[in-house]
Amino acid sequence: QPINISIDGPAGAGKSTVARQVADALSFTYIDTGAMYRALTYEALKHHVDVHNEARVMSLLKDMEITLENEGMTSRVYVNEEDVTDAVRLNEVTNNVSFIAKHEKIRIEMVKKQQEMAESKRTVMDGRDIGTAVLPDAEVKVFLTASVEERARRRHQEHLDKGIPSDLSVLIEEIARRDKIDSEREFAPLKKAHDAVEVDSTSMSIEEVIQTILQLVRE
Ligand code: C5P
Repeated sequence: QPINISIDGPAGAGKSTVARQVADALSFTYIDTGAMYRALTYEALKHHVDVHNEARVMSLLKDMEITLENEGMTSRVYVNEEDVTDAVRLNEVTNNVSFIAKHEKIRIEMVKKQQEMAESKRTVMDGRDIGTAVLPDAEVKVFLTASVEERARRRHQEHLDKGIPSDLSVLIEEIARRDKIDSEREFAPLKKAHDAVEVDSTSMSIEEVIQTILQLVRE
């Protein structure tokens, strides 16, 4: 039977890393909903569409086919056959995506797509509103958090590992700004579902977080 696991939480808490590995351990399908909002943001920037103009962004979305594909431990994102996997991680996308994600009509459309993707499947879905709006009946719900300093520090380390220039204080500011927009928006804000289990990963390793979630699945 279909079984769903939702993993929500603020930016940089490790949701995608953890969700992907939990999905792998259980042979479930991993669905990265943030990548869908990012793909739309990338298209808007590419076509010089104002991210605050809901009607224009909405008409872009209507003409877009967003496809998520899992290849081993990497997931690829396509927009109408174009591979935008790397493009959706650009800073410009990251710093604009929360404006796109504020629009109610856009969210309704995205939620519909995400529910279709999960239909009759076993999935691990990560995002901001999975436990509250996309999969309110998910069997296991996790709200993954960590202090903003720790989340920024992890992102900083990732940048250094990849040889990308990085400034920790800028990262703290950017992450805090994105969290603020995501949790203060009017429609479907980032929020722990009442029946979600909060996991604070500030002083946990990735492996510990994965084991904690797998234990919740077994219970
Ligand atoms: O998870 P990720 O950081 O890639 O998400 C990018 C942005 O997309 C979030 O900051 C948020 O604005 C938006 N988002 C959302 N709802 C989701 C997933 C992502 O609003 N379910």
